[in-house]
Amino acid sequence: MLRAAALDRASLPARRDFPQIVAMPAYTLVTFGCQMNQHDSDRIGEVLRGIGYTEVAEPANADLVLLNTCSIREKAEQKLRSEVGRIGLLKRAKPSLVIGVAGCMAQQEGERLAKRMPQIDFMLGPDNIAELPSILQQVELGAPPRIRTVFDLDAPQFLNAQAEPGRVGATAFVTIMKGCDERCTYCVVPYTRGPERYRPAREILAEVRRLVDAGVREVTLLGQTVNSYRDPAGSLPVAPGTGESHFKHTLRAVALEDESEFPALLRAICTEVPELQRLRYTSPHPRHLTWSLILAHRDLPALARHVHMPVQSGSDRVLKRMLRRYTVDEYVERVTALRSAVPGVTFSTDVIVGFPGETHEDFAATLALAERVKFTGFFGFTYSERPNTPALKLADDVPEEEKSARLSQIFELTDRHRREHLQSLVGTTEIVLGERRGKNGDFMGRSERNEIVHFACAGDAIGQMLPVRIREAYDNSLRAEVEPGFVLAPGADRPSPAPGPSARRALPVVVGP
Ligand code: SAM
Ligand code: SF4
Repeated sequence: MLRAAALDRASLPARRDFPQIVAMPAYTLVTFGCQMNQHDSDRIGEVLRGIGYTEVAEPANADLVLLNTCSIREKAEQKLRSEVGRIGLLKRAKPSLVIGVAGCMAQQEGERLAKRMPQIDFMLGPDNIAELPSILQQVELGAPPRIRTVFDLDAPQFLNAQAEPGRVGATAFVTIMKGCDERCTYCVVPYTRGPERYRPAREILAEVRRLVDAGVREVTLLGQTVNSYRDPAGSLPVAPGTGESHFKHTLRAVALEDESEFPALLRAICTEVPELQRLRYTSPHPRHLTWSLILAHRDLPALARHVHMPVQSGSDRVLKRMLRRYTVDEYVERVTALRSAVPGVTFSTDVIVGFPGETHEDFAATLALAERVKFTGFFGFTYSERPNTPALKLADDVPEEEKSARLSQIFELTDRHRREHLQSLVGTTEIVLGERRGKNGDFMGRSERNEIVHFACAGDAIGQMLPVRIREAYDNSLRAEVEPGFVLAPGADRPSPAPGPSARRALPVVVGP
């Protein structure tokens, strides 16, 4: 039998609404998909621990198993069915086991899935996480499958990260917006996550402050088109360069339309939380990589020298059919402008191969684009039809074998680019943020440009910014040694407040022997 304990959090129902604590119920959370889903799972975990649950790794030891689903690509339903089938066997042996499904699959297909999989006790949309305690209570009282998948359009809610001691790592995600107003013709997100809603800048700043005070050193701002952000409270000053267009290919009117308050938010974070060592964001839409954002990159030392900017295709014809709202030249122009403002900045990207109507020439154009930009990170996908998307009207006419062959070909090229890039770093010194220990006791961290670096360290390198000398390049990562003379010291990972643009590449405080 499930037992919910009380939670003293303003966003959740009052203490008296819960039955008394009898025993500590246990939950297991299985997460599919992107960072956005991982971030939702973190919030779900906080809500559950807030009402007295403890986390267990094995579903066999749990009272509640929650599957946080993703439906961005095909096979999502098969994956969910097989997980529910597996956990359903446990439920047969222990009928009190509660099975919940959260995330995009629940949002999109809740009713239908609940009918098809009677083992499921409840469905929860991404906007309904705060309602989890009351849903569990109803399940406990024997209610039929509950489906709660309502977008919070009138009063968007963003659950605050709790910065729980012992759970905060060196890095953290902070959601700044949800939903998407683009209508890329292949994409299900606008239907599973709803329209764009933005979190007030004050709330974002408070969360970054809380996380940094708890030990976080690097924050990644999250949003589907993260750089279309606007502060709903209008509290941000206008960022330098706003409304200016220095791009030959972009008409001024369009440039103004593409403008956002994202650069102003980045500046506010760096000014108000100067102890934050590194700031990243994902995923930006190329059309919002405006001049004001380029100036923010130039001016803010904490802003990482790496941008993950999905391009999807290197053919204008395909981009048009995808409704991406930029041309290949416009994409490259922005990459070039950022590279001139921030020397050494690297780019990674997403590409879909085999979009309806993609010819050999279109695909060759995508290879040519990869050759021009030389991405250091690459995520490639074969096109798959998604429910409700406009591209369903186009014939999915590239055979699956051809899609797979194209994917292998582009992976081969981009793997080579990444290997060459990593090789070029051997012998250089990079600043690495220690993130976690590897299996062999070594540490794993990331450089400012997002390269994965393995290194040995006598002390605890987690949460420390360390200068390391790159010794060896592997296919996907680097091996390095901590620079001789560098000593880990309390406070050594804290930078001097608000360095100016000239200090951009300055090391954090490093204590000599
Ligand atoms: N919002 C981000 C953007 O605009 O690029 C990312 C959205 S999605 C979570 C991540 C990636 O999944 C996309 O960049 C795209 O490459 C891929 N994707 C989305 N829909 C797809 C589909 N129907 N078939 C194959 N890949 C898809
Ligand atoms: Fe999907 Fe396009 Fe929105 Fe990204 S920008 S979430 S690909 S609709």
